[in-house]
Amino acid sequence: MRTKIVCTLGPATDPEPVLREMIRAGMDVARVNFSHGTHDDHARRIEMVRRISREENRLVSVLGDLQGPKFRVGDVPAEGVKLARDRAVTLSSRSAFISSYEFTIVPLPHEDLIAAAAAGRRVLIDDGSIELVVISAPDNGSVLCRVVTGGTLLSHKGVAIPGARLAVASITDKDRADLQFAVSQKVDAVALSFVRSAADIRALRSILKDLNGDQLVVAKIEKPEAVDDLANILREVDIIMVARGDLGVEAPAEEVPFYQKKIIHSCLRAGVPVITATQMLQSMIHAPQPTRAEASDVANAVLDGTDAVMLSAETATGDYPVESVRALERIASRAERDCSADAFVSASSANLADANIPSPDATTEAITTAAVEVARLIGAKVIVCTTRSGFTARMVARHRPSTPVIVITSSARTYQFTAFMWDVRAVVMQNYDSVDAMFEAARQFVLAENHAQPGDRIVITAGAPLGGGSGKTNLIKVHTL
Ligand code: PGA
Ligand code: MN
Repeated sequence: MRTKIVCTLGPATDPEPVLREMIRAGMDVARVNFSHGTHDDHARRIEMVRRISREENRLVSVLGDLQGPKFRVGDVPAEGVKLARDRAVTLSSRSAFISSYEFTIVPLPHEDLIAAAAAGRRVLIDDGSIELVVISAPDNGSVLCRVVTGGTLLSHKGVAIPGARLAVASITDKDRADLQFAVSQKVDAVALSFVRSAADIRALRSILKDLNGDQLVVAKIEKPEAVDDLANILREVDIIMVARGDLGVEAPAEEVPFYQKKIIHSCLRAGVPVITATQMLQSMIHAPQPTRAEASDVANAVLDGTDAVMLSAETATGDYPVESVRALERIASRAERDCSADAFVSASSANLADANIPSPDATTEAITTAAVEVARLIGAKVIVCTTRSGFTARMVARHRPSTPVIVITSSARTYQFTAFMWDVRAVVMQNYDSVDAMFEAARQFVLAENHAQPGDRIVITAGAPLGGGSGKTNLIKVHTL
């Protein structure tokens, strides 16, 4: 399969045979979600992923997902509070829960959020299942609202006020502690939630640097503000996630498919791997089969050009984690048969992506486009990219060639990075002292791994002289094995 699969770990993946079957079924990335569980839980799960993937001889990268500035209601009675339509509710950063015949006060321990709750703003609780509207200006840490869509409010449910621009930091104290843990665990990538602009990514990189970490950075696009700054974010990050769950809270749900297309096409243009996330197989949390709508959604994400698809509760807490991975595998494999490279090339340069989206320099663009075309014209079995940073491989993969891409790299970080890239496989090899030695290494690897047979042709890209650095690919070789 060419599309990569990200699976969230949780109690449902704790039995070893379950995780092993998920890895065998095609899981490429294990996501630990810092919104749930303890560091002990995460450490245990990371250790298990590493051990089983080694035993199975499969590349599985570990992604640590930071919670970010997610706002939550405080403590309410354990059985929840019934909020009926039109009831007046005060949200307060300074009061505990109080309810009487006339009024209800719900604790919301975020002074900044309340200050940003201007009259007329919508307050969405628990992914929008409860909706309030603000009816007067915030005052003294409280704001008066009216219930628009009622429901039972439970403690610690998420709260969002779409459009409210907050002055709080994107990286919270909890995120800093989780980052320190993630670096100590040597996770391969960290994801930042509720990214607002490229500055958030720079802030994360600088914290990583202080911790002596060089993790890959994933920007979760779940706020319309981030879509507005996407061109700059793409210059700073390694990987993008279309975080449809919160995106559909911060923006109307009917906008989500169009954000998804715009983000994916921008990523194709920039050559930045992109993960499409949330509710992909939602019904499989409790059912062994996906719905027709879910099958269509996964297939459409692949047709849009996503590199990877992600499972959240389906694997972390669901009843059918292994079946969910297998279902993704089946649906994506089928969709891949109808992916036309031409469609992607035109999509990636089409007007869906804005003109400021970064694109590679002219030499890289020319060499990678030509490599894909040469491979197609001669029926090459693989395109081998020798690359230190993985940049060339990303620039080849962005064309979505029908020829599989193999990365030969001396960098363990680049090796792990390929777990997120569409149809890219990788191997780590030491540095070579000549271009010929590198070609010979590529030849031996391709034969040993059965990617091609003697007599087959392969296309190799490289940068000469060796050690020229990232973005220095300037050479294409057609090699008959
Ligand atoms: P989350 O992010 O699961 O961490 O909230 C993904 C999303 O919002 O879609
Ligand atoms: Mn989210």
